Amino acid sequence: MLKRTRLQWMYEVPKCVAQEALRDLTRASIRYRSGLSGRPVMKTKKRSSRAFRITNDRITVQNERVRLSKIGFVKLKEKNYLPSRGVRIFGATISERAGRWFISLQVSTEINVQINTGPVVGVDLGIRRLATLSDGTTVSNPRPFARFEQKLRRLDRALARKKRGSKNYADCRQRMSTIYLRITNIRKDTVHKATSRLARTKSVIGVEDLPVRNMQKNRALAKHIHDAAFGEFVRQLHYKTVWYGSALVRISRVFPSTKMCSRCGRVKRSMGLQERSYECGSCGLMIDRDLNAAINIKNVAAGSTDTENARLTGEVHAIVQVPWSDAGTERQAVTSADGEQMYLRVNRGGNEGGE
Ligand SMILES: [Zn+2]
Repeated sequence: MLKRTRLQWMYEVPKCVAQEALRDLTRASIRYRSGLSGRPVMKTKKRSSRAFRITNDRITVQNERVRLSKIGFVKLKEKNYLPSRGVRIFGATISERAGRWFISLQVSTEINVQINTGPVVGVDLGIRRLATLSDGTTVSNPRPFARFEQKLRRLDRALARKKRGSKNYADCRQRMSTIYLRITNIRKDTVHKATSRLARTKSVIGVEDLPVRNMQKNRALAKHIHDAAFGEFVRQLHYKTVWYGSALVRISRVFPSTKMCSRCGRVKRSMGLQERSYECGSCGLMIDRDLNAAINIKNVAAGSTDTENARLTGEVHAIVQVPWSDAGTERQAVTSADGEQMYLRVNRGGNEGGE
């Protein structure tokens, strides 16, 4: 009733848009009640991310355009990108950032995963460097926010002088949001490249389960941690290791990776944040602080049987449902907010002739 009288506009959009929005609300309250996230807040036209989801709807993908019900054909800026055949499309998310519109599709596709035979590696995630690997290689932190901070501050001051609602005001806002979009893209690109390389070339990847939420309470560190996107790094490793047949080992945060000597195993009582190198009083080892931690993490990962997906042996037939995106910087980029959209069916024996 309410729908028919007061909410006429609801008939103008596909009905699944509203259903999906309600589903989001349900998910948000479940997450809130289980302590995973804060209290759900009301969406507003100004503040909220501008996005909607379409499911169960006929979505047609062609090389240069997509057809969405009630909207019609929409031309794609990046062509031949979205999968148009060989996959089942579940739904689409349409979003807007800095005046640009993005579409990401949720598709189901079958992949054959070969068990990865690469070396074992330990990864220490950091602020100074995004990642330090136990083999001595590093991934530097692009810190895009720091790079654009001054420019943003200048624009912010300029904005304050402009009249609200004026064209100048809108232009200024637009310039700022374009910079924020660039920051996001640089960050995304670095993390995607690093996690892909790891998942492709290593058999077992050890990472520390970082208490990101606790660390973010420390305001001085918070900005940099946000920049470094630790949580995102681990989340991507989680699904990419499934794709490339490698295993992810998350090591408990109580493990003294930083305080322990990676050669003799002695554990120091304390290790200040400023100490950049680990010097062992017992065996005399002198090593970069983060490299020492990475080696310790590797040693645990190598000996661990508690890997999240190391159970996979032999050839694995997996069905992975992933959103494809034309907004990402990498073709396999996944931008869903949680791992929920991914599932894996392991098929042992049967036609493949396993055990
Ligand atoms: Zn030692």
